[in-house]
Amino acid sequence: MARNAEVAVVGGGPAGLLAALLAARTGAATTLIAPAPPQDARTTALLEGSVAVLREVGVWDSLQDLAAPLRTLRIVDGGRRLFRAPEATFRASELGLEAFGWNVPNAALTAALANAYENAPGAVRLFAEARESRPGDELIELTLDDGSAVEAQVAIAADGRKSLLREAAGIGFKSHRAPQTALAFSVSHDRDHDGVSTEFHFEEGPFTLVPMPGRRSSVVWVATPGQAEELAALSLEALGEAVTRKSGRLLGAMRVEGSVGRFPITVGAATCFAARRTLLVGEAGHVLPPIGAQGLNLGVRDAARAAAVIAAARAEGRDPGGPQALRAYGRARAADVLTRAAATDLLNVSLLSSAPPVHLARGLGLAAISRIGPLRRFVMREGLMGAPSL
Ligand SMILES: Cc1cc2nc3c(=O)[nH]c(=O)nc-3n(C[C@H](O)[C@H](O)[C@H](O)COP(=O)(O)OP(=O)(O)OC[C@H]3O[C@@H](n4cnc5c(N)ncnc54)[C@H](O)[C@@H]3O)c2cc1C
Repeated sequence: MARNAEVAVVGGGPAGLLAALLAARTGAATTLIAPAPPQDARTTALLEGSVAVLREVGVWDSLQDLAAPLRTLRIVDGGRRLFRAPEATFRASELGLEAFGWNVPNAALTAALANAYENAPGAVRLFAEARESRPGDELIELTLDDGSAVEAQVAIAADGRKSLLREAAGIGFKSHRAPQTALAFSVSHDRDHDGVSTEFHFEEGPFTLVPMPGRRSSVVWVATPGQAEELAALSLEALGEAVTRKSGRLLGAMRVEGSVGRFPITVGAATCFAARRTLLVGEAGHVLPPIGAQGLNLGVRDAARAAAVIAAARAEGRDPGGPQALRAYGRARAADVLTRAAATDLLNVSLLSSAPPVHLARGLGLAAISRIGPLRRFVMREGLMGAPSL
């Protein structure tokens, strides 16, 4: 006998947990199918629009003290090329905001979301993996690895970049591997960061310092796969010296804390975002390079839109997995996802390119954004905020 739900959410990463919580809050009978997520020592820069969603669902209070505000964003061209972009500095105060966003530990974020979901009325969590997804005319049926089954009106696919549900819905995924690997780890340092997040642009990719509470920062160091392998093989002490040098001693001497994660860079997006009773949320729909903190912020907006579409269908007595709901979700998410995927990919490719005209164009673009007031505020609002509508 299959268990029945209105909404089944597959995947317990941050995007899936938030989608399940928001779906349950619409009053829909929601079942989350997700094994416990793997340990994740990273942090995520969540922009103000995403934090507003976390406030709305009541999980921000437990995260705020663990998070650091991002009051200023700096982009520094660290390369040694003929045309170097001018430094660009953006202050949240220019938009009348305390911060562009907050840097939050991933483990605390997923724990807070899981806890809130498990306390939501009517929410069911199954610690299992989906093995098969069969979308049908009336329902979608999911078979789990424990042999049980769940039938739902609509499934939210939050099962990551290799999404089983996306494939079962017949949705394609266009992706390519960049010749880059990101190293992610935390450091303590001698000087205050003063709430400034700095993204250095080097020939092999971005190198980003994101504030954490106290004199600590998260580092995302994008390097060639060979360089990443060499750096990851260093002792933590030697890596601390390397990261101090790479940052130009911006925050004084740095010491690496805890583990060092390695992430090959893939860039990709689904060919559409909803089909056959399946809505794609988070990395099931898009995988972006770690530039400008866009990845999970897009995932938050996916989750918010999926819940809005489900709420509208329920309010009007329509099928939440029917054609109208799928069309509404697909249309609403396509422009946001595709423009941000293209912009981050373009910026990343422009760093890797060895063609001087490409560097000149990037430099002129950044100079224009820095100096032309209305353009500058537009970019800050659109590129950095992207406020979702609940
Ligand atoms: C180095 C680095 C730094 C980043 N920094 C930022 C940042 O500062 N800001 C930002 O917004 N984004 C950032 N990102 C992107 C962000 O980390 C991702 O967008 C986010 O983690 C994706 O979450 P998700 O829930 O979609 O996917 P995942 O976290 O991959 O979760 C998918 C889940 O689905 C589960 N799953 C898979 N298959 C099944 C199945 N068949 N059944 C059940 N469960 C299944 C998996 O176990 C997993 O738990 C960064 C990424 C990297 C690599």
